Amino acid sequence: MKTIGVDLGGSHVLATLIEDDGTISDRSERDVVDHGFDAAVATIAAVIDDVLGRTKEKFVSAIGLGSPGNIDLETGTIIYSPNFGWRDAPLGERLRERFTQPVLIANDARCATLGEHTYGTGRNKPNFVLLTLGTGIGGGIVAEGKLLIGSGAGAGEIGHHQVRGGDGFYCNCGKIGCFEAQASGTGLIRHALAVGASFPRSELVSGKPGKLSSKAIRRAAEAGDPHALAAWTRYVEDLSRGLANVIAFVNPEVIALGGGVASAGAFMLDAVRPRVDELTTMVRRGRTQIVTAALGNDAGAIGAATMARRGGLLAQEPQES
Ligand SMILES: [Zn+2]
Repeated sequence: MKTIGVDLGGSHVLATLIEDDGTISDRSERDVVDHGFDAAVATIAAVIDDVLGRTKEKFVSAIGLGSPGNIDLETGTIIYSPNFGWRDAPLGERLRERFTQPVLIANDARCATLGEHTYGTGRNKPNFVLLTLGTGIGGGIVAEGKLLIGSGAGAGEIGHHQVRGGDGFYCNCGKIGCFEAQASGTGLIRHALAVGASFPRSELVSGKPGKLSSKAIRRAAEAGDPHALAAWTRYVEDLSRGLANVIAFVNPEVIALGGGVASAGAFMLDAVRPRVDELTTMVRRGRTQIVTAALGNDAGAIGAATMARRGGLLAQEPQES
């Protein structure tokens, strides 16, 4: 049976048709322009309709959706999503009224972790962590083969452990020096702005700090630009601190890095791995493989479909009869 996997982002929604082996056989994407709940539900339903309309509906067994925020796994109600400004938004109920298939909803980062664990770099790794280095840091933990959900489905908020004290950047959550504030794509931009005064002739900022992108900084660092390299060095230090903390807590076989900044690939990994080793103290160094995630931006949709096929975020794969 095929399942539909939907990844709802802050500005974009992707619906995919997923085969049993995790491959994507169809997709539909739209921008989410209006963040009002009714408008967003209409946009989500539209991308699902696109995919359902092009396949035979009877072959689609279930619909899974990953959304930002804290989500009631039973009902699919978005308890709180700062990205959309929603509180107690009954997304599951609304989609169940609209579609005949069962609808399952979970946090987008947990869905991405399930997808990457099932079909990507986490395959056959009982202890696995995915970190998505984008606007923020999303993540998820697989411990002893099972996705760690925690009390109130709140485990895995790795982005909000602090890697800096009073010298850190302010985080959207209200704390200072969170891993997300320091080591997301946004963190890289902040590092470039923070060291900017030392590079008055730098072309990186050139009077338009609002236009500065993490991609531009990463590329300039790779090209040897001194300002970008100074920011990159600080970024790598904070990222390494966070990764060493993850190893101290979980000691996974693999940590996969996804999101925009991770597309730096070897340029990032070669800098991070030795520093993480230095910061790893209580377990054998170098045992945790730090790699680039394999599924890229599709991990969330693939994971949501996997959840739908299994009948729950924690359900095991149904056995063939
Ligand atoms: Zn925070």
